[in-house]
Amino acid sequence: MPDGGPVKEPQQRLDQILAKLRARSCRITPQRVAILKIFLGSQEHPGVEQVYAQVKANFPTTSLATVYKTVHLLKEIGEILEIGCADGGNRYDGNKPYPHPHLICTDCKTIIDPELHLFEQLTAEVAKTSGYRIVSHQLDFFGICPACQKKQ
Ligand SMILES: [Zn+2]
Ligand SMILES: [Zn+2]
Repeated sequence: MPDGGPVKEPQQRLDQILAKLRARSCRITPQRVAILKIFLGSQEHPGVEQVYAQVKANFPTTSLATVYKTVHLLKEIGEILEIGCADGGNRYDGNKPYPHPHLICTDCKTIIDPELHLFEQLTAEVAKTSGYRIVSHQLDFFGICPACQKKQ
């Protein structure tokens, strides 16, 4: 199972992704690079609308369709993880594009990557007891974050 390997330097990873996109004859525009940088650098699991709002600050002519297209491309080359949300749009992790558990606040919709030291063990146990070779997984926890608990 991919564990993401060693954390790559952000610039190095950006260069690799740009090379992959060029290999697919994708046009690399400054807008597209800006969109990539936001997705790759964000720990906050943004949605398309959030990234759109950020890009527009520097590139006012960017269209929402361009953000969607970029997400689609990143998904195709396996450089972004889509987190399906029951209510509202999908959220994305371009920082850690491989499967990993998420912790989702049902109030403010904050999504974080929980620290789970036992997770590798859990995966190994599932593989061992079932005989399956695990290639992927999807595990989300839902709850009320500490900030929202204080507001209640
Ligand atoms: Zn919350
Ligand atoms: Zn994540």
